[in-house]
Amino acid sequence: MKFFEYQGKKIFKKEGIPILEGHVANSPEDVVEIVTEMGKPVVLKAQVLVGGRGKAGGIKFPEKPGDAFQKANELLNMEIKGEHVKQLLVEEKANILNEFFISVSIDRSQKSPVIIASKEGGVDIEDLARISPEKIIKSHINPLNEFLPYQAREIARKMGVETSLIQPLGNIIFKLYTLFDKYDAQIAEINPLILTDDGLIAADSKLEIEDDSIFRHKELVQLINYKPKEFAFVKLDGDIAVIGNGAGLTLTGMDMINLYGGKPATFLDIGGGASEKTIKKALDMVLNYPPVKVVFLNVLGGITRADDVAKGVISALNTTKRDVHIVIRLTGTNEAEGQEILKRANIPFEVSMEEAAKKAVEICSKIN
Ligand code: GDP
Ligand code: MN
Repeated sequence: MKFFEYQGKKIFKKEGIPILEGHVANSPEDVVEIVTEMGKPVVLKAQVLVGGRGKAGGIKFPEKPGDAFQKANELLNMEIKGEHVKQLLVEEKANILNEFFISVSIDRSQKSPVIIASKEGGVDIEDLARISPEKIIKSHINPLNEFLPYQAREIARKMGVETSLIQPLGNIIFKLYTLFDKYDAQIAEINPLILTDDGLIAADSKLEIEDDSIFRHKELVQLINYKPKEFAFVKLDGDIAVIGNGAGLTLTGMDMINLYGGKPATFLDIGGGASEKTIKKALDMVLNYPPVKVVFLNVLGGITRADDVAKGVISALNTTKRDVHIVIRLTGTNEAEGQEILKRANIPFEVSMEEAAKKAVEICSKIN
């Protein structure tokens, strides 16, 4: 689960990491109202989940409220790396004296969290790692031991900041690690952590939490109004939608389509134990993807029950307005019931995956 900048900052604030005053806006009108109310210079920041927003023009500094309307309008019509900008963070403009970088992430090769810090923040850390790797301080943390404030200060000292900053910077590093640990984060990053006349402030936030730990963080899910994705759905450039239950089976389905000379239009894994409703949703999703000409639904029932799948298929086909060509491979748990339901509805199906894939490719080549 990825957090927008403003959401990450809410959590930063809750955990004692200072942020700037900011408000979320959905329209240029909102922005003008907020700017007027704040009565001080502001920054407009596009809220997207992809990185490199600043460089892509997603941050603007309006001179006066009138200018804010125009700039907000530009930002709200922008797309950053394929992501539509829907919200802006209107934030008090800071007078930046210095920019630092601090992050906590997981180093899989070391099987441990790693704190990465630099006194040269604001830039792309990847660029800095290439140009001046010596300016990046990396410290692996043993997650089984308690992380102590002195260790955080030690990192601040290694960063090479002036002595008076070691204590406050160490304090923020400590809080960031604590937050990372508390919320089962995959990454918690502040770039830049800025130095102003009011001290150190997180001017940006990047926060991602491990999806498998969400059950432990209900309050966060509420805070950010997060809706977990029901399935893994990837759009591809072919014309045969491949749907399967389980990632491995779905990939195999794609391989089969390729083997017989077809091209997958989607990878859609409905997961295990998919209900009638889920199947219907999955079919609706691929049917709403214009390049799809044929649907190849590949189900080997384990936890998933073939009769639920059959019911889902019928309900999706009954409600779609599109003329759908669908090839179903249905076998496994409750297959007799499932196949019976399809037969009664006059929907053909296969039991062999190879046969079904072959058929899907054949039908598709006739449509072309
Ligand atoms: P990112 O490009 O998505 O990482 O966006 P950031 O929030 O990190 O902002 C990028 C850069 O914009 C920062 O490194 C700053 O140099 C600048 N910036 C952001 N907020 C302010 C601000 O309040 N005042 C000033 N002067 N610069 C800012
Ligand atoms: Mn940033």
